Amino acid sequence: MYRNLRVVPQLIFGRGSVRQLGDILAARRKDSRAPAIFLIDRVHEGKEFVGQLPAAASDLVIFVNVDTEPKTVYVDELTRRSQEFSSQQASVVGIGGGSTMDLAKAVALMLTNPGSSSEYQGWDLVNNPGVYHVGIPTLAGTGAEVSRTTVLTGPIRKLGINSDYTPFDQIILDADLLAGAPKDQRFYTAMDSFIHASESLLGTFINEFSRAFAEKSQALCRDVFLGDIEDAVADEMLMVASYLGGMSIAYSQVGVCHALCYGLSYVLGVRHGVGNCIAFNHLEEYYPEDVPTFRAMLERHNIELPRGLTEGMSEQQMNEMIRVALSLDPLWQNALGPDWKEKMTPERARELYLRM
Ligand code: NAD
Ligand code: ZN
Repeated sequence: MYRNLRVVPQLIFGRGSVRQLGDILAARRKDSRAPAIFLIDRVHEGKEFVGQLPAAASDLVIFVNVDTEPKTVYVDELTRRSQEFSSQQASVVGIGGGSTMDLAKAVALMLTNPGSSSEYQGWDLVNNPGVYHVGIPTLAGTGAEVSRTTVLTGPIRKLGINSDYTPFDQIILDADLLAGAPKDQRFYTAMDSFIHASESLLGTFINEFSRAFAEKSQALCRDVFLGDIEDAVADEMLMVASYLGGMSIAYSQVGVCHALCYGLSYVLGVRHGVGNCIAFNHLEEYYPEDVPTFRAMLERHNIELPRGLTEGMSEQQMNEMIRVALSLDPLWQNALGPDWKEKMTPERARELYLRM
């Protein structure tokens, strides 16, 4: 059976396009008095573009905290606040990096599905379509703006709510909003899309559809970080690279690097972008051409990766990290094939972690 891929149906691309949000919401508001819930990364509080957002008096604006990556308890709290604010079926607008994209997608689902978001971590467990939701990224790389998942840390696991109802109804890709991202963060998040493409291209699930997106996504990253592109153009290219990387894995899968990174984040709280960079740097055996390219990009941009992460770690933490990583069967199947358990034993995973 081939996957029947749900994609984001409406997209605006262009600098300044966030100003079209008013028109987009106006069309929704025409025959409803339902509010819009704005979930905005609090790093943007007070910025000029936030002051110009079309938030009405009847809307709810919440500046969200993404100091740690999204947790199910936080999604449940934001959902409760939205429900207390209005009993009408709202729209949700998410503005921020991948973490805020995921919060917005999750809250949109939880406004129409009972219980806690932790009950929906998994594949196709969501019964009702979420409310209308718009995604406006302010970092480029995760592909969260196009994906059918929202990655959440719950009481038992870090796992997405993967469903056909998860993708945004509308995204606005406005490269102006990437301005001001710290240099390291911009790099780490961009490398997420480079690594998505690498894992997609070298995985066993690869197909011509995914290959086309991944190749272009990687070419854009290489041009931005190894070429001589001015920043203004570079941000637009990264926004496209993120979208294409996300599209590529939507029809293939990620691999060794993401599986190991999930272990790092679950046990040590390492963030997605930097965690993938730390892991990728040690995976030349699996990604023989892309890891040297990645290192060249690091060097050119003077990015110092954290080191010695697993030094002094307890045996229990190490085992937990290996357990989390090796539980991600589809990722390993893609990376190493159906007999992956013979190739990626707990001992081998430990060896790789010890390098980090
Ligand atoms: P992020 O959203 O976690 O943000 C990282 C930091 O950058 C935060 O401190 C944030 O406040 C700040 N920031 C965001 N935009 C900024 C800007 N324009 N200027 C200054 N600071 C800014 O980072 P990310 O790398 O975009 O996202 C990582 C998250 O995305 C993780 O939670 C990961 O699990 C998730 N993710 C989701 C998917 C998916 O398909 N749903 C895919 C990959 C990653
Ligand atoms: Zn990723």
